[in-house]
Amino acid sequence: MSELKQASCLCGCVKITVKEVKPEVSACHCGSCRRWGGGPFLAVQCGSQVDFEGAEHIKEYDSSAWAKRGFCQECGTHLYFYFNKAGTYNMPVGIFSNLENLHMAMQYYTDKRPDYYCFANQTNEMTEAEILTYFAAKI
Ligand SMILES: [Zn+2]
Ligand SMILES: [Zn+2]
Repeated sequence: MSELKQASCLCGCVKITVKEVKPEVSACHCGSCRRWGGGPFLAVQCGSQVDFEGAEHIKEYDSSAWAKRGFCQECGTHLYFYFNKAGTYNMPVGIFSNLENLHMAMQYYTDKRPDYYCFANQTNEMTEAEILTYFAAKI
């Protein structure tokens, strides 16, 4: 019943098709995400069944020992955060054109969130210490 989900970068060089996108949107307030995008990273989980058209336009960056960040080297659109070990992608929710029934469910690194913004959404939250504890077994 799940319809394929379509995403693309701003210039259209890269088109992405994802089999299943979880409807829970997360916000990451960590310093890396805010430096990467200029603000919190609003992402959806896309699993591993992802097809790229125009992959030759994608530049990957090893942003940590356990993950890569990918972007279109023509227009700079951020395309994904890739977990090396799990082989799964988190992608910016804004690059998709046909997602429905989304809701913000989680905020990461809430202890790193600066004072100059906040979301009114009711979500679960995790601090850096909670995240390190939670993911220690998975990384
Ligand atoms: Zn592009
Ligand atoms: Zn982050």
